[in-house]
Amino acid sequence: MHIGGIDWQTLTQRQWHPVQLEHNLHRLKLAAPLAPPVNLLHIWMFWGRPAQSANEALWLQGIILAHAGMLLFFGLLALAAWWLDRRPQRLRLRQACITVGILGTLGFAALISSVDQLVTSNITPLLVGCTLVALVFLHRPLAALLLFATTLGLFIWAIGQTQSDPALLLSNRVNGLSICAIAMALAWSQWHHFVKIQSQQQRLETQQALLEQQNARLSYLAEHDPLSGLLNRRAFGEIVTHELLRAERNQQPLCLLMLDLDHFKQINDQYGHPLGDRVIRQTAALLASLVRASDSLARIGGEEFVLLLPDCDLQQGRQVAELLRQNVEQQLRRVDGLELALTVSIGLVAIAAGQACSYERLYAASDRALYQAKHSGRNRVAGVPLN
Ligand code: GH3
Ligand code: MG
Ligand code: MG
Repeated sequence: MHIGGIDWQTLTQRQWHPVQLEHNLHRLKLAAPLAPPVNLLHIWMFWGRPAQSANEALWLQGIILAHAGMLLFFGLLALAAWWLDRRPQRLRLRQACITVGILGTLGFAALISSVDQLVTSNITPLLVGCTLVALVFLHRPLAALLLFATTLGLFIWAIGQTQSDPALLLSNRVNGLSICAIAMALAWSQWHHFVKIQSQQQRLETQQALLEQQNARLSYLAEHDPLSGLLNRRAFGEIVTHELLRAERNQQPLCLLMLDLDHFKQINDQYGHPLGDRVIRQTAALLASLVRASDSLARIGGEEFVLLLPDCDLQQGRQVAELLRQNVEQQLRRVDGLELALTVSIGLVAIAAGQACSYERLYAASDRALYQAKHSGRNRVAGVPLN
C-alpha cells in the first residue's frame, strides 16, 4: 500500500534501513566534532560577564552549564561515532549512538531556548536544533513524528518554568509547535526522497542483472549449436584460427578430425527426425565425454562434427579418432531401445610442428580425408597429407 508515494511498510517499520543507518552514522561522524568548538566559544563569551539582574545571572549560569554539558556530550559522541564507523558489525550500538545524538541535540535545543526565556523571548535554538536534526539525519516517518512531538512536549514544559509572561509563553509555545511541525514535514520530505532514490536504484540493479543474464544467454547462443550444445561452426572457426597461430608460434603439432555418421539419412527415413535428433544429441554427448577439456568439439552440420586436437601429432590423432570410432560403434549400437548399429567415418589431417597452415586449407584437407573414409567402406578413419 502506498500513501503519497511512500510505501506504508516503510512508514511503520521499526528497523533501520541499512543505507539509512550508514548515512546517519556518517553524518553524525562529520557533525558531532563541529559542536564542541561552538560550545567553547559560547562558554568563553558568557564566562565572567557581569549580570544586570538576578534573572540575567541565572541565564548566564544556565547557558554556561548547558554549553559545558553539550561540550562533553558532543565530544564523547564524536569519539563514539568515529569508533563505530570502523565497526559495521556493531549494529545496535551504532543505532543507539545515533539515537542518543539526535535526542541530545533536540533536548539541548529545547533546554537552551527555555533558559533564554529568562532574558529574551526568542526561541532560535529550538529552530536551529529541529532544522538541523530534520535535515542532517534520515528518520522513518513514524520516528520523526514521535521525535518532534516529544521535543515539543519537552519545550512546552521547560518554557513554562522560565517564561513568566503569559502572552509570551503562549506565543512561544505556538511558535514551538510550528517549528516542530515544519521540522517533521522536512524530515518526511527527506525520507520520501530517500525512498524514491532507493527504489530507483533497486530497479536499476534488477535491470542490470537481467541485462547481464540476457547478454550471457545471447553470447552462449551465438557460439553454440542449440540441438547438441556443442560449439557451432562460427565459434569453432575462431578457435581454430587462434590455435593455428599458437601452434605455429610454439612449434607444436595439431590435428583436425571431421566426423560424419554413416547412413544417417536412413535413420531419419525409417524412425523419423525426432529420433534422428536424439541420435545427434547422444553422439555429441558421447564424443564430448571422450575428448580432453583443451580440445574443441563442434557440430557443423546435420550429423557432422569437427574436433580440433591442439598439441597432438598424426599418430596421437589417429589413436583419438580410432577411440571415437570404436566408442560410437559400441555405445550407439542401441538408441532408445532400437537396434541402429550406428557407425561413424572420420577424416583426419595433421599439421607437423612449426608448419604454417590456414583454417580453409586444413578444413578442405579433413573433408577430403572424410570422403576417402566414406568411399573406402565407412566406419573407419582415413588420413590425408596437407597439400
Ligand atoms: P553417409 O554415410 O554418406 O554420410 O550417409 P548419410 O545418410 O549420413 O548422408 P548425408 O550426410 O547426406 O545425410 C545427412 C542427413 O542428416 C540428411 C538430413 O536429413 C539429416 N539431417 C540434417 N540435419 C539434421 C537435424 O538437425 N536433425 C535430423 N534428425 N536430421 C538431420
Ligand atoms: Mg553428412
Ligand atoms: Mg552421414
